[in-house]
Amino acid sequence: MQTPYLPLAGLRGLILGVANEHSIAWGCAREAHRQGAQLAFSYLNDKAKQYVAPLAEQVDASLFPCDVTVPGALERFVEQGVASLGGLDFAVHAIAWAPADDLHGRVTDSSRDGFNQAMAISCHTFAELGRLCEPHMVQGGTLVTMTYHGANVAIPHYGIMGPVKAALEGMVRYMALELGPKKICVHAVSPGPIMTRAASGIAGFDELLSTAQARAPLQRLVTQEEVGALTAFLVGAGGSGMTGQTLFVDGGMHAVG
Ligand code: NAD
Repeated sequence: MQTPYLPLAGLRGLILGVANEHSIAWGCAREAHRQGAQLAFSYLNDKAKQYVAPLAEQVDASLFPCDVTVPGALERFVEQGVASLGGLDFAVHAIAWAPADDLHGRVTDSSRDGFNQAMAISCHTFAELGRLCEPHMVQGGTLVTMTYHGANVAIPHYGIMGPVKAALEGMVRYMALELGPKKICVHAVSPGPIMTRAASGIAGFDELLSTAQARAPLQRLVTQEEVGALTAFLVGAGGSGMTGQTLFVDGGMHAVG
């Protein structure tokens, strides 16, 4: 019998952002595992652990806590994750948060505190993750974050996450410039709307789903599996010559407005 070809065999990755089976991070983890990668997951807190642990078990991933608002938590997660994997080749950052009042109100009215929290958790942690991963990516590596088209155009109800994602996409370009000499590639993946826990906090999300389905050139929504497949491509050999980009996996919605 022929041995199956596993494009990510031998690669070791950190996955931040699995909350449940609907999470985009879970789509990335499942595909990376299917392609042969070894993984370590973060989970937010004890309440979240009961949902994340069975998923981690399905893909033989180690599991460590990480609430990025807790001082030192990201440092500990990277240290524990890398130790469990015996090295590091890639990291997937799929976390975002904004206070409900600021998320639901006008950007114009957003509080400084709320904006700062959204920016720190959803954007600056990607730079922190890069800094912490860099010394472990001795042969080079790949960092991937998740963004949304609300970074480029104003989308009703996306609110302060729009400017936060715009900053995140800028962060990707600067990190690509700075980490390129270490052979570390940095990417943003921009999925179309997918119903997840984070998405359910956005007012009018159903409308966003139906608009995408009706107007995207492919005339359908995308799946976590498709986001996972693109992410696996980027961390594998296929993405080795690419860095600093935002890649859409949105059925073409970005192209038609
Ligand atoms: P999700 O709710 O499954 O994942 C969000 C994750 O963020 C959760 O695992 C949560 O625990 C984590 N998180 C929040 N605050 C945290 C903190 N303080 N410390 C550590 N982790 C924290 O939702 P999702 O839709 O899979 O979101 C993943 C990423 O994809 C986000 O960056 C989101 O903006 C992005 N995205 C989502 C969509 C969509 O339509 N669902 C589209 C484009 C981009």
